[in-house]
Amino acid sequence: MDRLATRLGESFGLEIHRKMPSFDPETAFDKSRGQYNSTILLRLLLLEMAESSELVLGVTGADLFVPVLTYVFGEAQLGGSAAVVSMNRLPPEVYGLPKNDELLYDRLVKEAVHELGHCFGLVHCANPACVMRSSTYVEDIDLKEAWYCLVCEQTVNASEKTPESPPSGRRFGR
Ligand code: ZN
Ligand code: ZN
Repeated sequence: MDRLATRLGESFGLEIHRKMPSFDPETAFDKSRGQYNSTILLRLLLLEMAESSELVLGVTGADLFVPVLTYVFGEAQLGGSAAVVSMNRLPPEVYGLPKNDELLYDRLVKEAVHELGHCFGLVHCANPACVMRSSTYVEDIDLKEAWYCLVCEQTVNASEKTPESPPSGRRFGR
């Protein structure tokens, strides 16, 4: 988590604050599926951040789903301020492969940058190297880079709309 926070802070030029949620994530648990509803988690995160203009990224080890899909690696509010990512299906050992913490970390970074991209208003990108390319399987995550293609990056930069944010060296602040 420290590495992820540092990496995201550097990549986005944003100040990152880490905190534990004050809500009970178990309220998002779906007994019939044995998984957690990512849309409910997003709602809980938004309620938690109601009086803040910050972006919030939830990071969980729980297996996430949306009703129409078997599982999701994450979910975000398009153009909104909340995103959630799951590490549950990211470790290679889940697929019977040797443990590899570097690979796990790379995948987590990519999923976090991807979901935050949705918060910055990005939809999925057809560029195979772009982090906004959609990933159905974990191998899809490995095929893309950990950052946006030039087109997507422009959208992220343009999504900076908070007038009170200081005109510092930040590429996009909030
Ligand atoms: Zn996506
Ligand atoms: Zn792109």
